[in-house]
Amino acid sequence: MAAELMDGRAVAARVRQEVADGVAELVAQGGRAPGLATVLVGDDPASDVYVRNKRRACVAVGMVDLHRRLPADATQQQVDDVLDRLAEDREVSAILLQLPLPDHLDADALLDRIPSDKDVDGLTVTNAGRLAHGRPGLRPCTPAGVERLLDEYGVPLAGAKAAVIGRSVLVGRPMAQLLLARDATVTLCHSRTKDLAADTREADVLVVAAGVPGLVGADAIRPGAAVIDVGIYRGESGLHGDVRFSGAREVAGLITPVPGGVGPMTIAMLLANTLQAARLQQHLPLVLP
Ligand code: NAP
Repeated sequence: MAAELMDGRAVAARVRQEVADGVAELVAQGGRAPGLATVLVGDDPASDVYVRNKRRACVAVGMVDLHRRLPADATQQQVDDVLDRLAEDREVSAILLQLPLPDHLDADALLDRIPSDKDVDGLTVTNAGRLAHGRPGLRPCTPAGVERLLDEYGVPLAGAKAAVIGRSVLVGRPMAQLLLARDATVTLCHSRTKDLAADTREADVLVVAAGVPGLVGADAIRPGAAVIDVGIYRGESGLHGDVRFSGAREVAGLITPVPGGVGPMTIAMLLANTLQAARLQQHLPLVLP
């Protein structure tokens, strides 16, 4: 029997509504509307589209769009100055430095300037450390979105075997940490993993974030597993992921489509994190998405 599709668009719409309600409640209680500062350096067309979508989504839930744009030849000092001003600005709840940056800029040094309570992507060392230590903090949006999708579809995580393909600081590593925090037994695979399919075939939950189109086929999936495809690749016939969907769907129990799976969840969780950041700065307790 073909796997059930995990509808990221529908779940993301629910998250956005929750965030819109949370913003309205915050403002009704006399708090400030959350402000999201997206920082875009240069003219990369894909980043331009991503940032535009994030800004639109932020306004749609009642937040304030505080976008900053710098030219491709901006110096490290110029970007430092913009980030430092945003860090001090009380109207700014959350700062998102759009990656990748032009090659001449030191991304790690720039990320280090973002205060951890405004680090809406959960990319600072402080927030990564909090996650690793199992403490509350802002979590990277894509893995947080995957966790929410798994929860919405009732996938048991405690005691489950989970495999994550990819160990980037943006997706794979925090994904593994989030699954571990939910008491899954986690295998973290990467490009040097000797027999990828042997590891992934053991998994009740498989999250694929390698950026290698079609990397995972039906032979690498345990029958009945939940398969989450984070990869995005634009081919001649549209968007595809890292999973060979049609074969995988015949073996998996649940599977995300590309598009319409993880992608919409990433922006929804960015909004949820921006609300969390605003609450943190206004000394209100975190409300978990
Ligand atoms: P990344 O920084 O390039 O990391 C890719 C990871 O995959 C690395 O850890 C790499 O291993 C591993 N890998 C590469 N080839 C592999 C192979 N053949 N077998 C096993 N592991 C392999 O990419 P990323 O930022 O994590 O993104 C991953 C994918 O997710 C991309 O397609 C990206 O576009 C997509 N993405 C989607 C969303 C969304 O909202 N849907 C958000 C973020 C990213 P090594 O560490 O050994 O090099």
